[in-house]
Amino acid sequence: MQLEGKVAIVTGAASGIGKAIAIAMAAAGASVVVDYVGDSTPASSVVQQITTAGGKALAVQADVSNPEQVNQLIQQTVAGFGQLDILVNNAGLEYKHPFTEFPFELWQKVLAVDLTGPFLCAQAAARQMIQQQRGGRIVNISSVHEDLPMVTNAPYCAAKGGLRMLMRTIAVELAPHQITVNNIAPGAIYTPIDADVQANAAMEKQLMAEIPLGRWGKPEEVAGLAIFLASDAAAYCTGGTYFIDGGMIRQAGSL
Ligand code: NAD
Repeated sequence: MQLEGKVAIVTGAASGIGKAIAIAMAAAGASVVVDYVGDSTPASSVVQQITTAGGKALAVQADVSNPEQVNQLIQQTVAGFGQLDILVNNAGLEYKHPFTEFPFELWQKVLAVDLTGPFLCAQAAARQMIQQQRGGRIVNISSVHEDLPMVTNAPYCAAKGGLRMLMRTIAVELAPHQITVNNIAPGAIYTPIDADVQANAAMEKQLMAEIPLGRWGKPEEVAGLAIFLASDAAAYCTGGTYFIDGGMIRQAGSL
């Protein structure tokens, strides 16, 4: 199995893409920490799904924007599974408002979770990986919006654009420790984060017209790419963004 003997943390793993990555990494042989915030029931059910299938998993509550909770997340991972090899910075959220009306508190909230979160988690994970002296993998779930603008979504685009340069910078800085850092940039993946579009047929039709492959992506498809980037097969990949978007970014502006 591609991740046999590895220990992975997936942040925001109680739903959507994070849940699919946690389940797929466990199936690939990794022991997985399912990070979550709020109600513990969905995270417990992810853990149960993994353990029922014969895998190893542990649910840990930690808000990725809180430095103490992030340190606890790393400590509980090492206490539970003895080491840390893979961090998937997946937790994220977005709020849509016209730019001139965007509430300052929501700007701060999006930046805190979508950009400060990956900074805190990557920093704490890298400290642990350096101490272990066996390299490591950091995979950030960014977005096509690390590159493409999206009206009414300024903080999200700013955070994901920031995540692109955070990734590029720390990829160079952590390379001497054989820790690789890469971004996965999904397009439209069918998860709760896009509930507004899924509930509006006209918006969904417009979105599909922007995707050359003409459909939503599946969380499991993102998980397959995350496993590759977290595996030994990707040892020479660092500092890159890997788009998984049905061709969306290539079509932008071409119609
Ligand atoms: P989702 O809403 O199902 O998942 C986001 C998860 O993050 C949730 O489980 C949520 O509880 C968790 N979370 C929120 N704040 C947190 C915090 N402070 N600490 C820890 N966890 C927190 O949506 P998703 O689509 O699965 O999103 C996962 C990632 O993929 C996000 O970073 C998102 O920006 C990115 N993404 C999604 C799409 C898409 O089309 N679905 C496209 C591009 C990028």
